Amino acid sequence: MSLGWKFFLTYVAVAAIALLVMSISTAFVAPETFSDHMQYMQGGGMMMGQGARGQQIEVLDDELDASFREAVNSALLRAGIAAILAAGVVSWIVTQRIMRPLRTIADASQKIAEGHYEQRITHTSRDELGEMVDSFNRMAASLAGTESMRQQLIADVSHELKTPLASIKGYMEGLQDGVIPATPETYQLVHREADRLQRLVRDLQELSRAEASAVPLTMRPCPPAGLVNTVTARLQPQFAEKDVTLTVDLSANLPPVRADEDRIEQVLTNLLGNALQYTPEHGAVTVSARMAADAVEFAVHDTGIGLEPDDLTHIFQRFYRVDKSRSRASGGSGIGLTIARHIVEAHEGAIWAESPGLEQGSTFYFTLPTT
Ligand code: ADP
Repeated sequence: MSLGWKFFLTYVAVAAIALLVMSISTAFVAPETFSDHMQYMQGGGMMMGQGARGQQIEVLDDELDASFREAVNSALLRAGIAAILAAGVVSWIVTQRIMRPLRTIADASQKIAEGHYEQRITHTSRDELGEMVDSFNRMAASLAGTESMRQQLIADVSHELKTPLASIKGYMEGLQDGVIPATPETYQLVHREADRLQRLVRDLQELSRAEASAVPLTMRPCPPAGLVNTVTARLQPQFAEKDVTLTVDLSANLPPVRADEDRIEQVLTNLLGNALQYTPEHGAVTVSARMAADAVEFAVHDTGIGLEPDDLTHIFQRFYRVDKSRSRASGGSGIGLTIARHIVEAHEGAIWAESPGLEQGSTFYFTLPTT
């Protein structure tokens, strides 16, 4: 049954009940009061000793009673017809007012279901229907955002996969045609491209887990010095190999931080790995930690290539690389800092970068709440 009919029947039911109550009260109460009144008048007449006049009044009483009932019934009938007509008109108006936004929402939902995420509805009322329209628009905007992120991700991933695949294909064709010599160096180059693909897929898996907040965190109190020293000890040989000095500078008496040790070591490894990668030979990298409000602030400072102000805001977005060709050549996919951001945020910390400008080094900071 349509909403219009439901409203109509509701109004008719209300009118019918009102009429019923009126009919019952008129049928029982009014005639009694009326006849009491008539009897009083009749009694008064007899008392005055006028018998024939008393009989006349009795006949008149019956007639008046009948015509009263007739008048009341006819009034009720007219009132009933008027009530049904009014119910029809009112239900039509109310239905139109309610149905119009509902129909618009139904149409817009249909369009969104067909993939037209730009659908929005304008509303005029400030009632619950207006609120529903607002919620619908918010839902549509959020769906549009998710859809554009999905499209961007597909575009980014296919772009990232395209380059190493094209390289591998090129080498294979060259080998088949005999244009490229089948030397160990050639196989090494193919192997490097396959390696890059493998690393990209692994990073993507990790990114998708981090973005879905599916990385389980085992939080426990960790001394900042322990976290920093473990990572620096592990990376020291690579720094020595490139002749980049690695220094640790920790404030005394730092309280333990609430952290998943493995994950925070992963963040530090990523920041130190980047610092090493983007700092030329004979440069210097310093890892420090100090107290800042109710958190410990870690910093990885390097004397490397630095970052422009515009890049500082973008480097934590996935697939963002400042110099695309240079990073790709060195194996970077622009995912490391995105994963680091997710990990730090899952610890209720913050991560950001600062740099005075190109060729002036950069510093990456992140905070972790203390226990
Ligand atoms: P990648 O794997 O490409 O290094 P990241 O997400 O770790 O990806 O870093 C994103 C981009 O940020 C890098 O491509 C690089 O351009 C820039 N970047 C990161 N760390 C540094 C740094 N210490 N100095 C200069 N640029 C950096």
